[in-house]
Amino acid sequence: MTKIYLVGGGPGDPELITIKGKRVLGLADAVLYDHLAPEQLLDLAPPAAERLYVGKKRADHAYTQQEICAMMIERARRGLTVVRLKGGDPFVFGRGGEELEAVAEAGIPFEVVPGITAPLGIAAYSGIPLTHRDYTSVLTFVPGHNVDAVDWSIVGRSDTLVVFMGIEHIDDIVGELLRAGRSPLTPAVAVRWATRPDQQTVSGTLEDLPRLIHAHGLTPPATVLIGEVVRFRERFSWFERLPLFGATVVVTRARSQAGELCDELHRLGARVVELPAIELRPMDDYSGLDAAIARLGEYDWIVFTSTNAVDYFLERLRDIRRIRGRVCAIGTATRAALEAVHVIPELVPDEASSEGVAAAFASVAVSGARVLLPRASQAREVIPETLRALGATVDIVDAYRNIIPDDAAARAQKIFGSSRKPDWITFTSGSTVNNVIAIAPAGALDGVRVASIGPATSAVVRRHGLRVDAEAREASVHGLVQAIVTAAAP
Ligand code: SAH
Repeated sequence: MTKIYLVGGGPGDPELITIKGKRVLGLADAVLYDHLAPEQLLDLAPPAAERLYVGKKRADHAYTQQEICAMMIERARRGLTVVRLKGGDPFVFGRGGEELEAVAEAGIPFEVVPGITAPLGIAAYSGIPLTHRDYTSVLTFVPGHNVDAVDWSIVGRSDTLVVFMGIEHIDDIVGELLRAGRSPLTPAVAVRWATRPDQQTVSGTLEDLPRLIHAHGLTPPATVLIGEVVRFRERFSWFERLPLFGATVVVTRARSQAGELCDELHRLGARVVELPAIELRPMDDYSGLDAAIARLGEYDWIVFTSTNAVDYFLERLRDIRRIRGRVCAIGTATRAALEAVHVIPELVPDEASSEGVAAAFASVAVSGARVLLPRASQAREVIPETLRALGATVDIVDAYRNIIPDDAAARAQKIFGSSRKPDWITFTSGSTVNNVIAIAPAGALDGVRVASIGPATSAVVRRHGLRVDAEAREASVHGLVQAIVTAAAP
């Protein structure tokens, strides 16, 4: 429907968009976004929506303001729902006002959805209350990119002063403030990419700030906060004290399954980089699985070694009432996938691994039993070998296959080739290890710490001559994250 939504995407943490902003993105036929808009928010738009980067980074202005307005209006006139997604709030130094003038002029219906402006993000994530009864009666937001356009003797008197776009002119700005009589000892802080895992903070006194900013090579986008309230940061800073703040963690799980791990790492402050080293695909030929399903009543046991095996098996089976035999699930996630369709596994080993399954069957009488093992087309032989040694007949059928995604090698090159290597890489199965080794450039993992979900995965890591720096005690996403937290603790 013809409409233009001007939406504030917040300062960086994608969770800081409003519920309304999220809903509106879900309606978009086209999203026009700029440099500061959190890019993860683009995932909230429908897959078919057009995503158009319209830049805004001064050096490479992708489009002029006029061109951006023309593109929005042209799309709206075609009957599309257009979201203009901006960083922070659209009406705070975001040129939202100018864009809306053009939209209103063109007679296009519009709505505005506010966003969390950068200083509010900085305040919350740095632990600096922008106002405090004891220290603040005036709070000022001022742009710093055009130093001469501001009367610093007036704004300098403001108790809490927030300077946007000022980092490149910090010497001049601080000079003006000191000349206007602001105390050189006023606490001051500059924060770059606030609320993101790569948030960078430089703090000191007003007098010292320019030197510190140069020494740390702080570049835009950063915002400067000046005032007594900055002192609270020492006590209230929580974000930069999260256990994984400052760490970059590579997640190699299949994209379709990585969500939980990525979320948990993100919540603990880590910067998460996805390198899906595996992609699940159905088999081209299901005759083997279908034949086994046709004689399902003959099996005494069905063993599921992953949630994927459950999913693909059920897809072919359709009617779960046909499961007559007893069921084994390798771990809690697989058990949950079965219980979701009311199949209750009788056997769930203490340790979620092939070895764990093998050990659990040692205490079950399986001699002479028929066991069905639907699983990935390449898998380890521990379970069938053990069960056969115990006297069972084991039928292995391929339920799905694992492939290496097409773009994995290029992504690996980018991730490990950059000047700053990731701190951690996580492996949730032996196949993710093998695949990463197959695609990553030689020596890619040098200096990168390895976290593994359990002993079987660790064994594969070691087989490639790598060290395991953290191993989950409990084979689950949570266990894996906890292992990293423990190993990363100072
Ligand atoms: N509309 C935006 C501001 C855009 S002007 C808002 O409401 O936040 C661009 C300036 O915003 C940057 O130069 C910087 O001063 C500030 N800024 C935006 N996002 C930021 C972030 N994540 N961390 C620190 N400063 C940010």
